[in-house]
Amino acid sequence: MKQHENFPLIPIKKGDGVWLIDTDGNRYLDAVSSWWVNLFGHNNPRIKEAIKQQLDTLEHVMLAGFTHAPVVELSEKLGKLTGLGHAFYASDGASATEIALKMSFHYWRNSGKPQKTQFISLQNSYHGETLGALGVTDVAIFKDTYAPLLMQSAQMPSPDFRLAEAGESAEDFALRCADALEKYVSTHHAQLAAFIIEPLVQCAAGMGMYHPIYLQRAREICTQYNVHLIADEIAVGFGRTGTMFACEQANMSFDTLRTNGFISRSHTVNTVRPELVEGLPYENKQTEVCQIADFICLSKGITGGYLPLSCVLTKDEIYQGFYDDSTVRGFLHSHSYTGNPLACSAALATLAIFESDNVIESNKAKTAYIQTKMQALTHFPIQHLRHQGMISAFDVMTQNTHFAKDCYAAALNNGLLIRPIGNTIYFMPPYTITESEIDFMIQATVKVLQKLI
Ligand SMILES: *Cc1c(COP(=O)(O)O)cnc(C)c1O
Repeated sequence: MKQHENFPLIPIKKGDGVWLIDTDGNRYLDAVSSWWVNLFGHNNPRIKEAIKQQLDTLEHVMLAGFTHAPVVELSEKLGKLTGLGHAFYASDGASATEIALKMSFHYWRNSGKPQKTQFISLQNSYHGETLGALGVTDVAIFKDTYAPLLMQSAQMPSPDFRLAEAGESAEDFALRCADALEKYVSTHHAQLAAFIIEPLVQCAAGMGMYHPIYLQRAREICTQYNVHLIADEIAVGFGRTGTMFACEQANMSFDTLRTNGFISRSHTVNTVRPELVEGLPYENKQTEVCQIADFICLSKGITGGYLPLSCVLTKDEIYQGFYDDSTVRGFLHSHSYTGNPLACSAALATLAIFESDNVIESNKAKTAYIQTKMQALTHFPIQHLRHQGMISAFDVMTQNTHFAKDCYAAALNNGLLIRPIGNTIYFMPPYTITESEIDFMIQATVKVLQKLI
């Protein structure tokens, strides 16, 4: 509150594509998609129209004992896209995390394994900030104050390749971290309900990216030791990492990944371990999320950034674990706005845009363009320039302890909205960004770096 005496809030009047326009008419390019939620620009005509139409029909009805077309259609579509055929809805990401954690625990309890009460996550992970979600989050600034209130969980070494030893490839490092995971799980599995993970990119950790082989190994380890794998795709789902869901890349052959440019230059890819290649049933084709995750949490981009909605998808086996005459064996997580029709209609419009505009395919050219243009930034003292689909990031080498704040302010003065995390500057723009808008984004960043470094 006090900081805003020097940093007044910016009153936004209007959104237009990638631009936010304040009450004085200043324009800001929204290079963070309004905290990673906006996929197809502000004031998007198609999503707006879908919500308006739904508003003329039905604004809301409780899902207890009732249902409606948008929630059924959306569940069917998400089921097809992920291979996980059962959906549970809430309104925000943290709630999705809570639901997945509770459901995992409750499933084991219903299956005669009530001792499986513990969760593990990655070092530097972020899964939301309600008490349960914070319990598996590992970001000190959000967590430490509330530590006495939180459930205990253990953190596994993060495969974020910035943490690799000098000379170690991203892949070797990911495999080394997976070995540490296996060591922990092999001794604690009897008490473990689930491993919750952000697939491919730990966004809140400062866009920490890692090699997809880690997901493959995590799946193998979780299967071997009977532990659920919860994929928190709240930030990375819906095309952010270059595929519809980040988990899909764990099952792709590494040649496919390289050809499609998913593994950026910074990932040094060595030969894949032969036993893993042979074990890959889905060589050379995009596969479903269900090959990796027992649960997937979705939110943020699900409505294109229009309305709050989240969803936890899971598989038949979990669903069957709750299928019973006894009410208390059911999953009792009451949420007033579950499956809200307006939010579901925005989500359906978002998925329709993916289909009609072939978004995953057409983003590839944009990703390539951003990567090329970002080479201009390598003249500055930066390191770990990295890309994963429509996420690009680099770390600035500076002694300035207020770098994030100074950079944010300087960028706004140049018409650019970025929110550095520590020394990490990242771009996560709406997919509708044009080449000239990308040019603007990079040029503004160059001006900011010239001023600050
Ligand atoms: C944003 C985020 C959440 C929390 O979502 P909210 O809607 O802010 O509660 C959880 N997990 C990840 C990976 C996120 O990026």
